[in-house]
Amino acid sequence: MKEDYYDILGVSKGASATEIKKAYRKMALKYHPDKNPDDKAAEDKFKKAAEAYEVLSNDDKKARYDQFGHQAFEGGGGFGGGGMNMDDIFSHFGDIFGGGGGFSGFGGGFGGGGGQRRVKGSNLRIRVTLTLEEIANGVEKKIKVKRKVQAPGTTFKTCSTCNGQGQVTRVTNTILGRMQTAAACPTCGGAGQSIDKKGDNADAQGLMQAEETVMVKIPAGVVEGMQLKVNGKGNEAPGNGVSGDLLVAIQEQDHPTLKREGDNLHYDLYVSLPDAVLGNSTEIDTVTGKVRIKIEAGVQSGKILRLKGKGIPSINGYGRGDLLVHVNVWTPKTLNKQQKEFFENMKNDEHFVPKPEHGDKSFFEKVKDMFS
Ligand SMILES: [Zn+2]
Repeated sequence: MKEDYYDILGVSKGASATEIKKAYRKMALKYHPDKNPDDKAAEDKFKKAAEAYEVLSNDDKKARYDQFGHQAFEGGGGFGGGGMNMDDIFSHFGDIFGGGGGFSGFGGGFGGGGGQRRVKGSNLRIRVTLTLEEIANGVEKKIKVKRKVQAPGTTFKTCSTCNGQGQVTRVTNTILGRMQTAAACPTCGGAGQSIDKKGDNADAQGLMQAEETVMVKIPAGVVEGMQLKVNGKGNEAPGNGVSGDLLVAIQEQDHPTLKREGDNLHYDLYVSLPDAVLGNSTEIDTVTGKVRIKIEAGVQSGKILRLKGKGIPSINGYGRGDLLVHVNVWTPKTLNKQQKEFFENMKNDEHFVPKPEHGDKSFFEKVKDMFS
């Protein structure tokens, strides 16, 4: 079982935002990888605390967590089971340790885990609405994205405050004594570089806003709420940093006649009384275009015709759902005199007396079959 976020931070369920922030700050300092080099246990604790804080510091996520627990973030979105990566964690440090330009300097986080530190640009989030046909067949979408890019004409030089190291050692006096922490360089924000010459349209970080068309390949079978990641298409980072990612949230558009249920689709077919009695054929919608299906003479209302493989492909790449066509025999509500007479005459006719056959499953049996 996943550990409770409140337990991880060691705060009570009713803790205030300030208490939560304080608790996280304490843990982040204690288990910071720079203070615990090559200590896997500390790194785990550090990551866990960051994940807990990510949720509990966000009103919306906290409310969902309080109501549903860890389930709130399972399946689509959330942390995708893989936990947070170091870049995500460090990107929160701006508001935690904030102030003085230090961590907020270059906007991005710091690629962690020893070695050379590189600033990462922030992630961008967008929504894309897809038709059922696009979901069924997969689609490549051209999406216009406003992202920060390096402004032309901007040049960087090695930061003189940190000599290109990206971090400085800070000594703080705490109640526990003097504490030495490695912090991001306040001048360059961890990039190890600072702006030498600023381009014409450059902001303080040497970046500018640009509109770009990004191709997003969406695989068949995606589900509402799912999030796809396009590496490197978020905001660019200054200097030799790496670009953030573009996170694409999937939204499903309602189809006029087809209803989706997992990988299966449902279609309501209305059949006239004469067609039900005499048989006929008719066209119905599918996600790959119209298809003609046969209506057998004597078809019963409630019958489900299963078109194998005409549903949505599984996102996992194997199998494909079915299209279930639900037959509804349409009973006329008004009749003329002649028609009325016809049915009056048929009242006691043996052909009009219901005689359910063994094969005519009741509605409830069919529903049971569908889900088994
Ligand atoms: Zn620096």
